[in-house]
Amino acid sequence: MISVRFLGTGGARFVVAKQIRASGGMWFRFEPAPGEEDGPVTQIHVDPGPGALVRATSAVPPCDPAELDALALSHKHLDHAGDINVMIEAMTAGGFRRRGAVLAPSDAFEGEAVIFPYAAKFVASRTVLEERGGPYHVNDVELRTSIRHIHGVQTYGMHFRYRGTTVSYLPCGRYFEGLAEDYATHHPDVLIVNVLRYRDSMKVDHMNFDEAKHVFDVVRPKVGVMTHFSTRMLEQPPERLAREIEDELGFRVFAAYDGWTLDATTEIAAVAGR
Ligand SMILES: [Zn+2]
Ligand SMILES: [Zn+2]
Repeated sequence: MISVRFLGTGGARFVVAKQIRASGGMWFRFEPAPGEEDGPVTQIHVDPGPGALVRATSAVPPCDPAELDALALSHKHLDHAGDINVMIEAMTAGGFRRRGAVLAPSDAFEGEAVIFPYAAKFVASRTVLEERGGPYHVNDVELRTSIRHIHGVQTYGMHFRYRGTTVSYLPCGRYFEGLAEDYATHHPDVLIVNVLRYRDSMKVDHMNFDEAKHVFDVVRPKVGVMTHFSTRMLEQPPERLAREIEDELGFRVFAAYDGWTLDATTEIAAVAGR
């Protein structure tokens, strides 16, 4: 079974600065279904932005950092990585229990590193994510990365594969020819897309809603999720836009909200049963 808890669904600087939506990232949980072959429960926290630790520990039921197996960054921007060192300390009991993994692009570890060298030493394994890399392993979960996004710093999407199901995460970046096709090669059952902008002519390294819709159309997951919203997206609101994609493309699409848990296994099964 795979579930994803959204500890934050805010994207643009203003939304994050004002905490109109939280910015704690996504908490993935992979565990054997009842009756399935036994195996470990694996928990991976992706993109722990500002407030991630507070959001995790105050969630109901709480997400326990001491049980985390890995922290993963799509890229080092602050809205994705603000709490990475705090989360490393929480995962490793302040460095007293050397455990867990950190996976991130090389520029998160080097140069203007966002992962402090002292904190990196607390974790049992450090993995540098590369373009179209992997499979990287966290217990029996496989992670592969996407083509490099156009986003200022090294940015990669993530494809998590567990017991025959793939959940993919498409983080921030400008739309370009070939982006959607790269994601489509992984045939994700669930595709989570950061949709920051609605309709504007801003020349920034973020996709807008129409581009995201095109990506969904090319990839055609069983279940789509939009997250990482700006104020323009929140005004629409995103729930209406999710229905619009659903009506046009004919698969289930959700607009994520703070505290929501996507029960990926159940939603995929519901599609199969239709
Ligand atoms: Zn970014
Ligand atoms: Zn972002």
